Amino acid sequence: MMAQYLEIKAKYPDALLFYRMGDFYELFFDDAVAASEALDIALTKRGKHEGEDIAMCGVPVHAAEGYLLTLIRKGFRVAVGEQLETPEEAKKRGYKSVVKRDVVRLVTPGTLTEESLLEARRHNYLGALGNVRDEWALAWTDISTGAFHVMPLGQARIGAELARLAPSEVLVSDKVDEMLRDVLRDLGIEPTVLGAASFDSGASEARLCSTFNVQTLAGFGSFGRAELSAMGALVDYLDITQKGRLPLLMPPKQEVSARLMQIDAATRRNLELTQAMSGGRVGSLLATIDRTVTAGGARLLERRVSSPSQDLGVIHERLEAVRFGVEGAFSDSLRDVLRRVPDVERALSRLSLDRGGPRDLAAVRNALAQAEGLAERLSDADLPALLGRSKDCLTGHDVLLHGLETALVAEPPLRLQDGGFIAPGYDEGLDQARTLRDEGRGVIARMQGEYAQETGIGALKIKHNNVLGYFIEVTATHAEKMHARSDRFIHRQTTANQVRFTTTELSELETRILNAGAEAAEIEKRLYDALRRAILDNAGVLGELAASLAEFDLALGLAELARQRDWCLPLVDDSRAFAIEGGRHPVVEAALQKAGEPFIANDCDLSAEGQAASVRLLTGPNMAGKSTYLRQNALIALLAQIGSYVPARQAHLGVVSQIFSRVGASDDLARGRSTFMVEMVETAAILNQADERALVILDEIGRGTATYDGLSIAWATLEHLHEVNRVRGLFATHYHELTVLAGKLKGVSNATVAVKEWEGDVIFLHEVREGAADRSYGVQVAQLAGLPKAVITRARSVLEALEKGERERASPKALIDDLPLFSMAAQEQAKPVSRETSSEAEDRLRAINPDDLSPREALQALYELRDLV
Ligand code: ADP
Repeated sequence: MMAQYLEIKAKYPDALLFYRMGDFYELFFDDAVAASEALDIALTKRGKHEGEDIAMCGVPVHAAEGYLLTLIRKGFRVAVGEQLETPEEAKKRGYKSVVKRDVVRLVTPGTLTEESLLEARRHNYLGALGNVRDEWALAWTDISTGAFHVMPLGQARIGAELARLAPSEVLVSDKVDEMLRDVLRDLGIEPTVLGAASFDSGASEARLCSTFNVQTLAGFGSFGRAELSAMGALVDYLDITQKGRLPLLMPPKQEVSARLMQIDAATRRNLELTQAMSGGRVGSLLATIDRTVTAGGARLLERRVSSPSQDLGVIHERLEAVRFGVEGAFSDSLRDVLRRVPDVERALSRLSLDRGGPRDLAAVRNALAQAEGLAERLSDADLPALLGRSKDCLTGHDVLLHGLETALVAEPPLRLQDGGFIAPGYDEGLDQARTLRDEGRGVIARMQGEYAQETGIGALKIKHNNVLGYFIEVTATHAEKMHARSDRFIHRQTTANQVRFTTTELSELETRILNAGAEAAEIEKRLYDALRRAILDNAGVLGELAASLAEFDLALGLAELARQRDWCLPLVDDSRAFAIEGGRHPVVEAALQKAGEPFIANDCDLSAEGQAASVRLLTGPNMAGKSTYLRQNALIALLAQIGSYVPARQAHLGVVSQIFSRVGASDDLARGRSTFMVEMVETAAILNQADERALVILDEIGRGTATYDGLSIAWATLEHLHEVNRVRGLFATHYHELTVLAGKLKGVSNATVAVKEWEGDVIFLHEVREGAADRSYGVQVAQLAGLPKAVITRARSVLEALEKGERERASPKALIDDLPLFSMAAQEQAKPVSRETSSEAEDRLRAINPDDLSPREALQALYELRDLV
């Protein structure tokens, strides 16, 4: 057995091998040590290998999924080795034969299909990066839904696209260069490295044709070599991990990044689109706006939030769909129907991999039924184009639906082997088998009655014992009558008072009763397979149905949100307008609302003429609401382009092609770069990439270095954005000096977040107004933060001196030299002490020149000083 184990294990050096032994998966050697630690289960030993104890641990098969989940989350990959024959079969092959085993599946983060291992409301993408000479491409699939996409892209965009998709696993070739590794590392991705053969673009074309069962891929689009390479690697990897059993994949969809709003990784993090800064989903834009009621709808929303469109046609269609929900009187009843829609996509995927069960059949049935219901309710509705097309996919599946409805019971069990999911009356053979199994005794009783009548022996009995099984028993007195019909009643045994017979009918019945259970299970399995086939034959249309249901769910969910939160329908066109009236930050507003506090709405006008730039320079104290304002305007543009209503009273937005958002000197210790360096790298990316359709929001750029450096960099950056990039943008800064640029650059204007001073305290009004901030109120904010009183008083006097100096144009150096030191100033305030009244000890102390003292003299001076106090 160990020989077999080692042979299998050698093929999966990077995975933990789950080696099936009866009701357990056992792990040995280093695998056992690693798994017992990761799973917190007992480590034992079994036998010896080369004189050493073999470490071992195991998990019961029935509970394996939970353990798998933990291992995958902790970054392991697991090879599941099953027994491929029964011990009896093995014995037949020869005494001492070991049961045949092999790996049936390699479980990796990107290839999960189990409900319990997946998050229902999120995608689980597996990505692959293809590279042929200078061409790059990214392909990705979610095998739990069958989605399959590919996109050619420049090497510079790899990071941004991976950040958008957030795949759980990424395949790269072993030839991949250090630069790409850096990009992946920055995103926290540990790639799965495959041999170059997996990425061979020539071989991959053939592989893809056979996967999709076509002669040529031309029908799906025209693919570059890098795209073929990436897609081929995906399919090859699925083949390796699923051991030849390919999941249901939709034909590859070619995405063009130019049609999507481009958002790089830093901006995504910054705007907290799908993940909050804290790392979780809570507090993200996605979590705040999600009102979907189906898993498919939630995943669609995640996709949209990650990839807003810049295609006006697409944006308008989506907005119209939401508008239908906002204005339609019956959205609530539609949402009620949707609530009952199960996750068809994932059910389909499990069925295709033969990892499904009766409940997945029922999921398809229920989805079909709810889809019919939805379509019925919409029969008179005047639907906008997108929903109209979606509605057409909801119906026309009568045959399949009828088949499933008649075949299945209302609530089937999860697993196939639990049986009992086929409805009575569906299959005669199954009904009989079940009757026999469940009512065996009743059938025997009926037969007994029939025999009694036939023979005229009222006392005839059918009995059962372990030796004979079922038999007919009559008293000796009636034996003759039975013997007379020996063609029918076969003699089995004579005891003192009884004679026992059987009939071919009875022994057949007996075998059938015994086998009835097994037979029922077998028939059910056969019917299950037939239903599964029928479903998979319709996989294409079912996929469309699932997508259509998700589309309805999303539109109605966004409509619900718009009504709840009083959002407005934005006007999106190809102008360079950017006019928002009464805009709000969706996440901050929701948080404040929970605390019962109001959110102050603010306008923002960045509309630009022709090719000109339009940048607002925002000054104001910390905590005034600058960051909130900056982000809310970016989020409003983004929401409009996913096709959602927006948190504003009114909004007119010219399509935005790229959003850039940066925060000065954010902590990025995890990536081991100095914060200022990160800030500059990120700023460089904007200055190099932003075009006149870009929206740029910069929050305190230049903060990470000395004042004059920072100011100069911020200054030059602003000029470049204005003159060269010509963006629409918002620029928050605490360098008041920058505000003079508003007078010099045509497209730059000043705005400030208003505050009020009241009895020395500062009150934040959170109102954005024209003009520059008069001062920064840093001291007041520090006071609010609870800095010690002495520090605050001291800071006030330093500030006063500095401001006075500035007015009088004194040099800062001279000013600072004039300022007394903190300790003295504090003392002065506590109890003013003049030089004249200083003590003898102090005079003595002043007279000491430490440089002139030997250690011995120093010690002596110390003693003398002590004696003086
Ligand atoms: P800054 O960037 O100017 O330091 P922030 O944008 O971080 O300030 O805002 C500080 C806090 O003020 C936020 O956490 C929020 O609670 C509150 N705030 C910001 N904007 C508003 C607003 N428009 N209405 C109400 N509260 C706001």
